[in-house]
Order: sequence, then structure tokens, then C-alpha cells
Amino acid sequence: MISVEELIKKAEEVQGEITLPNGLVSGIVGVALVTKDGNVYTGINVEFYCSLGHCAECSAISDMLKDHKTEIDMIVAVDVEKVLPPCGRCRELMMQVSKEGKDIKVILDKEGNYKRLEELLPEYWNTPGMNDYLEKDTN
Ligand SMILES: [Zn+2]
Repeated sequence: MISVEELIKKAEEVQGEITLPNGLVSGIVGVALVTKDGNVYTGINVEFYCSLGHCAECSAISDMLKDHKTEIDMIVAVDVEKVLPPCGRCRELMMQVSKEGKDIKVILDKEGNYKRLEELLPEYWNTPGMNDYLEKDTN
């Protein structure tokens, strides 16, 4: 299994600003995640005027899903100088993409300290009650 230090290095390797023809800058944030079976996926944030930009976590999760993997063990986001916590939207995304999303280790600094996703999102939306709601809503 990849170490925390190696995962941070993977995120740093993909992080790097790229100015698009539209003048907006993508790649400010790089993310690396490792699945429970040891596969590593990466992503960068992308910015567009048409509002289709998204966080680096979304890119890394898309990278993972193309291999039909869903179970994240650990994830880290970095900019040019530090580790960044995920935004609220990405916390919900991670909670919903993995069966045991509440146990995902979210790295919070370069020393490798982390919190379980449930600690960062204690009242998350993907509760058993939500599944009942969705079943009712789609019938
Ligand atoms: Zn986000």
C-alpha cells in the first residue's frame, strides 16, 4: 500500500497551473487518492466560464470510476505550498461514492495527519433515510 508521503507526492506531481486559451487557470489544485485495493488515481481542478469547472477531487474520482472502482481508502489535495481540506461539495461526493465513505482518511497536512470523512461531515446527506426518500421520490 502506498504511504501517506508517496500519496502527497503523487498529488504534487499533477498539481501545476495551466492557463487555458480562455485565460482561466486550471491545475491550481492536485489530488491523489488510493483505493482500498491499492490503486492510485489523480486529478486537477479545472475552471471554465461556462460554469463546468470542478474541484480536483472530482477529477480524481472520475479517474477512479473509469476503472469501476469506488472504495477510497485515503485522499489528499495540495496546492503549490500546502495540503488543502476538501470543500463541502466534495465531502458529500466522497461520502456518496464509496460504500464506507465515512471511513475515508482525508489527509489534512504534510505530516500526514488525517481525519475520517465522517469527522469532517458529521451530518452527511447520504443517510439510510435518504435512501428511503430517493426510493419514494422515483416511484
Ligand atoms: Zn471541492
